[in-house]
Amino acid sequence: MTSPFGANNDIRHRLLIVDDEEINRDILCAMLEEEYDTVCAENGEEALRILTTGEASFSLVLLDLNMPVMDGFTFLKKKLEIDALNDLPVIVLTSEVKMEVESLHLGAIDFIKKPYESPEIIRARIYRIVELFEGARTIQLTSIDPATGLYTKEYFDLYAEGKKNSGIPMDMVTIHVANFVLAEELFGHSLIAKSLHSIGRYLQDVGGATGAIATRASHDYFYYFGPHQEQYEEFLRGIDAVLEKLPHGNRLRVELGIYPNVDPSLDLADAFSWSRDALTSDLGDHTKRVHFRDAALHAKTLYEERLVQEFEESLRKREFKVYFQPKYDITGDKPVLAGAEALVRWVHPEFGMISPGVFIPLFEKNGLIRHLDRFVYEETVRVIARLRDECGITLPISANVSRVDAFDPELGAFFLELTKRYGVEPKLLHLELTETAFAENMNALIDIVHALRESGFVIEMDDFGSGYSSLNLLSDLPFDVLKIDGGFIRKMHKSSKNELILKSIVEIAKFLQVRAIAEGVETKEQVDALREFGCELIQGYYFSKPLPEEDFVLRAKGER
Ligand code: C2E
Ligand code: CA
Repeated sequence: MTSPFGANNDIRHRLLIVDDEEINRDILCAMLEEEYDTVCAENGEEALRILTTGEASFSLVLLDLNMPVMDGFTFLKKKLEIDALNDLPVIVLTSEVKMEVESLHLGAIDFIKKPYESPEIIRARIYRIVELFEGARTIQLTSIDPATGLYTKEYFDLYAEGKKNSGIPMDMVTIHVANFVLAEELFGHSLIAKSLHSIGRYLQDVGGATGAIATRASHDYFYYFGPHQEQYEEFLRGIDAVLEKLPHGNRLRVELGIYPNVDPSLDLADAFSWSRDALTSDLGDHTKRVHFRDAALHAKTLYEERLVQEFEESLRKREFKVYFQPKYDITGDKPVLAGAEALVRWVHPEFGMISPGVFIPLFEKNGLIRHLDRFVYEETVRVIARLRDECGITLPISANVSRVDAFDPELGAFFLELTKRYGVEPKLLHLELTETAFAENMNALIDIVHALRESGFVIEMDDFGSGYSSLNLLSDLPFDVLKIDGGFIRKMHKSSKNELILKSIVEIAKFLQVRAIAEGVETKEQVDALREFGCELIQGYYFSKPLPEEDFVLRAKGER
């Protein structure tokens, strides 16, 4: 049957009519039975029994006020105390207008005056309320998390998306109950259940006043998404205050991670994780419980994410350029070009020249370095071959082997194939391995380095003195060149002790029968002192900055 209000009547809702007068019950039943299932009770007590013990669920109660045994007011009061009946709407049937206000206070939703007006009007009012409450209940069932009374995560996401794009600056706040699991073990689940409820209630209250929304994201995390505010101390005090009211509630430690002024172009999931990450931004400082996401750190992360994302395409587009920094032999009267180090740069279309100091550590973290290094190795060998073919020059060039790459079991075979392909002698390809890589995995690396040397490649120990150098390391390791870290050179003239250390390193190299090269050499005084100590090779701005390939080739030609 079709309702006069155009609704789908497939579902028949059930109504409870509570009136002590049989005639009144009959009139209402007759009026409503076509559209609804009706159940009758003679007084409040019987109504409560039907509602609380019966299997059936009701959509509406039509309630008389004056009844024996239990009147309508008492019924309303008792209903208020029963959680399961909270959402059940009640329409009061009354002939006395003054009763309306009191019933309203007790939760009644509407009134029908006795004697009854036209059946059409009554049916319309009942229909409106049933639809309204059934609709709201369906939404509530899925949108509200019963443990906290807050939106479920799905609904929160839905609303947050709208708020994010509203034009109002918003903050994403993660509320973390840091010792939740421990507290549950110590004080039982009841504290946890109550604390969830209290925090939920608090967030609803604050949110109601500010236009914020909140959800419980997981076991011990809540998200709160609200208009931007400068400080959150008061907010945190508010949470503490509601928890302190619970037995042992003061033992819960709540912390806030805040990502202020959320970038609307960002995915919500990222905004969540940034506010969560903020929780770790003051690690070590246990006095702090409100943690803001560091804006500089934030910008850096974004930038780094972009670099990682763009890496592959940039490599394909040849945005990575290998530069060559000349190395000079200073043992004779005149410095002589003795080799070069290949150093990669990223010429980014938007960010300009990016230093390898920025992207190498980044690519080492996610394995991308392997592809980049292989590109640089090939460029290096290609240029060695070019110098020979175009200029008749035999010049060794070194490439940096990242510590990640060093353990690649196919590395040796790769170098052999590469040098063979370009017809380059392996001894012209120098491999710079950083000292710290040696120190970390000494035994494994010794074998790798032995194998590379046996194939004819020349090993330079890079950055010597910057890490935890030990004399043991020097005596056990197979290498051909000791590269003294630029830091030593910079400090050289600061004290006679520094000079002495530098001199000793050069002497150790001599003793081990390997050549010493000083990097980062910028001044004539440094060159003179190093020559005096017996250091044979120099690399640094004093002679040349790293040069693009064409400039380096010109330099190599000019020197000969
Ligand atoms: P590194 O191997 O210690 O390279 C020396 C760094 O010192 C280079 O910085 C070089 O440009 C810089 N330098 C050279 N002479 C001077 C000088 O006189 N004064 C000063 N202040 N600096 C000087 P760059 O090119 O920025 O490279 C930084 C680091 O990035 C390198 O340190 C190396 O560890 C790494 N790297 C560079 N290119 C590659 C590469 O192709 N592959 C790998 N795996 N790492 C690379
Ligand atoms: Ca190097």
